[in-house]
Amino acid sequence: MRHPLPETLIPRRAGQQAITVNGALPEGATPRLAESYTLRAPVTVNLLFDTYGDDRVLVTGQLGTRVMGQCQRCLEPFETGLETEVEVEFGPEDSISDSEREIIPGIDKVLNLAEFVEDELLLGAPMVALHDEGTCVPPGEAPVQEAVVAGRRRPFGELGSLLGRKEPD
Ligand SMILES: [Zn+2]
Repeated sequence: MRHPLPETLIPRRAGQQAITVNGALPEGATPRLAESYTLRAPVTVNLLFDTYGDDRVLVTGQLGTRVMGQCQRCLEPFETGLETEVEVEFGPEDSISDSEREIIPGIDKVLNLAEFVEDELLLGAPMVALHDEGTCVPPGEAPVQEAVVAGRRRPFGELGSLLGRKEPD
């Protein structure tokens, strides 16, 4: 069964109906994600809810979007895909995990889909955004060719005049 993205759902019921939620979240639905990243594409959601064992619902699927982050090496902004595989279980309040999977208590509680998606994307997001190794350098560590040019410009000449300007007359 395929449904448009619901705003909320009850995990147990979604699991019993083996619902697939497939679509894109509306713009502005993930404000916490937007604090860290500038979204360049809608957040796409593809999740399957299914009953698992006696009292669990297993949720699997993928979430994705494209974001602008800031490279922590060269400090330049760059666009990158942000994708997360989801594999979590919903269980009763007193659930104890018997597997590697995260268990979220609240199988019978109303689940805000956008919040859940946002949580999972934030969990899966890299803590440090970086360009691929070797494709950029930190500011000040200019590539060889540019370093030669900078050397001819007397790199400390400007610094000296800036310091000089700060001295009182
Ligand atoms: Zn970089």
